[in-house]
Amino acid sequence: RCVAASASSSPATAAAATEVPGTMKAWAYDAYGDASVLKIDEAAAVPAVGEDQVLVKVVAAALNPVDAKRRAGKFQATDSPLPTVPGYDVAGVVVKVGGQVKGFQEGDEVYGMISEKPLEGPKQSGSLAEYTAVEEKLLARKPKSIDFAQAAGLPVAILTANEGLEKAGLCAGKSVLVLGGAGGVGSLAIQLAKQVYGASKVAATASTKKIELLKSLGTDVAIDYTKENFEDLPDKYDVVFDAVGQGEKAVKVVKEGGSVVVLTGAVTPPGFRFVVTSNGSTLEKLNPYLESGKVKPVVDLQGPFPFSKVVEAFSYLETGRATGKVVISPV
Ligand code: NDP
Repeated sequence: RCVAASASSSPATAAAATEVPGTMKAWAYDAYGDASVLKIDEAAAVPAVGEDQVLVKVVAAALNPVDAKRRAGKFQATDSPLPTVPGYDVAGVVVKVGGQVKGFQEGDEVYGMISEKPLEGPKQSGSLAEYTAVEEKLLARKPKSIDFAQAAGLPVAILTANEGLEKAGLCAGKSVLVLGGAGGVGSLAIQLAKQVYGASKVAATASTKKIELLKSLGTDVAIDYTKENFEDLPDKYDVVFDAVGQGEKAVKVVKEGGSVVVLTGAVTPPGFRFVVTSNGSTLEKLNPYLESGKVKPVVDLQGPFPFSKVVEAFSYLETGRATGKVVISPV
């Protein structure tokens, strides 16, 4: 018993057991701009692991609009210094643990959003690389029922959907309209509204080809925005969740005393905007819904894109037409 315990609890032994190289392949940019600034670095430094961090061998990553906006220089004032290895979303395997890490050990399959705040001093070394270092508090165990590619698409989008619905005060019996229901965030906002928050009615918008998807995710009222203007319809909602940037129209369809949460673009009262915070314990809280299949990851079928096709994946994301998540796998 003593021998087994000391062998498995010694970080030094554990670290020595997994061979972590000093350099790795990573996508990086050293100037802001369009997708063409992205270059593959064959010998990037594997990030050092802080006391409260684990080193994750990346199996899959995912792109978010914030990666493109950051790369374009929109957040320069609060960004990490260049060069940047982009990527917030990760799913992979723990290969090294810092001295103060309590909840994870080598071999654990994890997923998470690697920077606590995406715009304020995000990590310089992100998830579009073979390895990434992440604070243990930002990670959760990967649900066994989903694969790494599916898990990689979740963190930013599901945390945003959850925090937005929570801040908007959605609860059982209330109605919600999700603008942009077919995107990464919207596809999860619909499902969380129904399965986690107990909304009595979920409406959502998308273009014609995506209406069936909205219904399959649990949408009660699917609005084809190419045929109808949601703001001209008679229905009003307790909560409007805007993942498109239609804040000015969104406030027209909220009930008196309701709330309008906006992820991007202009916001008019009573609307409000927030920026997602990464948190592993929220992912752990949502894991049972993923394990049971009540909430399903939606991975865009143009992908998953292999690691060599990150530039193509960004170009696709930046069309604004992705269905669910643009995933990079295998890394
Ligand atoms: P996606 O790239 O996944 O969104 C693409 C989807 O948007 C497509 O399916 C498209 O459907 C839909 N869409 C585009 N225009 C419309 C429209 N007029 N009406 C309805 N649907 C539309 O983006 P995300 O879901 O990842 O993010 C959405 C926005 O939220 C982004 O601007 C992002 O930066 C922001 N965001 C902000 C966060 C925060 O913390 N504040 C966190 C996460 C995201 P179709 O092809 O049918 O038009």
